[in-house]
Amino acid sequence: MNRTLAADCNEHIGKKVTLMGWINTIRDHGKISFYDLRDISGIIQTVAKKQYEVGHEYVVKIEGVVKKRPENLINKNIPTGEIELEIESLEVISVAQTLPIPIEGDGYDIDEKLRLKYRYLDLRRQRLQTNLKLRFQMLSFMRQFLASNGFTEIETPILTKTTPEGARDFLVPSRLQPGNFYALPQSPQQYKQLLMVAGLDRYFQIARCFRDEDPRADRAYGEFSQLDIEMSFVEQEDILKLTEELFRQITEKVFKKKVLEYPFPRISHKDALEKYGVDKFDLRKDKDPNVLAFAFVVDFPLFTEQTKEDFYYGSGSAKFAPSHHMFTAPHPDDIPLLDSNPAKVRGLQHDLVCNGYEVGGGSIRIHQREIQEKIFNLIGFSTEQKEQFNHMLEAFTYGVPPHGGIAPGIERLLMVATGEENTREVMAFPMTGSGQTAVMNAPSAADPKILKELKLKIS
Ligand code: ASP
Repeated sequence: MNRTLAADCNEHIGKKVTLMGWINTIRDHGKISFYDLRDISGIIQTVAKKQYEVGHEYVVKIEGVVKKRPENLINKNIPTGEIELEIESLEVISVAQTLPIPIEGDGYDIDEKLRLKYRYLDLRRQRLQTNLKLRFQMLSFMRQFLASNGFTEIETPILTKTTPEGARDFLVPSRLQPGNFYALPQSPQQYKQLLMVAGLDRYFQIARCFRDEDPRADRAYGEFSQLDIEMSFVEQEDILKLTEELFRQITEKVFKKKVLEYPFPRISHKDALEKYGVDKFDLRKDKDPNVLAFAFVVDFPLFTEQTKEDFYYGSGSAKFAPSHHMFTAPHPDDIPLLDSNPAKVRGLQHDLVCNGYEVGGGSIRIHQREIQEKIFNLIGFSTEQKEQFNHMLEAFTYGVPPHGGIAPGIERLLMVATGEENTREVMAFPMTGSGQTAVMNAPSAADPKILKELKLKIS
């Protein structure tokens, strides 16, 4: 199809073009009518000496000649403000009934349930299109940066076994093995470590993670994405260096913002708590939205005290829960303390914080079977729970490189960079806070026939 984008019309002055898009606004002055046409590139004013039978949000095909506007009608606020299209023909491709939500403006004041129900209309909003395009630019940059640093992008399974990150699992019933379930991964943690055992050396993935945990503004309920990274034969500092270089470049080249300090400050967990009272702090003095203040928090304690909420980790009655996750390596100097005083053991964990948010976390991993087993015991794993991770213990007996990684959250970082207050604003189809999917009504009841096939009964 031979169509020209609105924004490209500046290069076609005096020429005939075909535009396709939505009728954004209509101004009818009797003898002359203006129709602003919107497509992915922006808006262009089209004009005719007659009226057409069109309404807001109709999809149309307009043919005409691009003209320079008279001097007094130039609009400096839009990229096509010096031109307009003189309509020769206008064809309605698809009519539109009145939209249930307005799509001009930022949309913050519209009921969110309604925005998500009509997300495909909400996404016509310029702000959200800009956010999604920025997201794509960031992901493309990450891919290109990591590829040129020797990384391989590898996809890991979605239907898998539990990989705990401190939340509940989403379970998927198996038809072929009734009574058994897959778990959706809370992260690709185990697979990425197994890829290091396999000798892939440097892995990354724009990974989807699934966690059934209570919703928060800075993490969408249900699913989110992270840039999952793992590297072999590294020390913690190697991971931090790669991460800070990647995020400095993203900040400058993609977000067109400044980083406050480079290299990013490294602050111990203890100092962070003493100085800022929290382990995710904002180093900006004036809260300048054009500055991203990254820092690494290091030297975390390996364990926190276990609470009832940690039941999915261990017995729920053990004293310790992992501060990060159960694959994080203890500081080598503190290994004897695992027996005498586990609370004092430091973990080789690193968190990346930015403007008051935790935007990523990672660690050097345990690669010795005995230490991994010791951690399982300390967090109160039963024999059965330990068996769930036998594949990791076994893998560690076949020659395993020291390894570690990090996983910055895609939405959280974009939220900080765009100044949005909720990660849902940087996702195409997020769920509502109560776990309802956008547009489509899930979760929903299953067909009794399917339940029967799965041998499931709802009690
Ligand atoms: N798997 C961890 C997480 O999802 C990140 C990591 O340790 O690399 O937070």
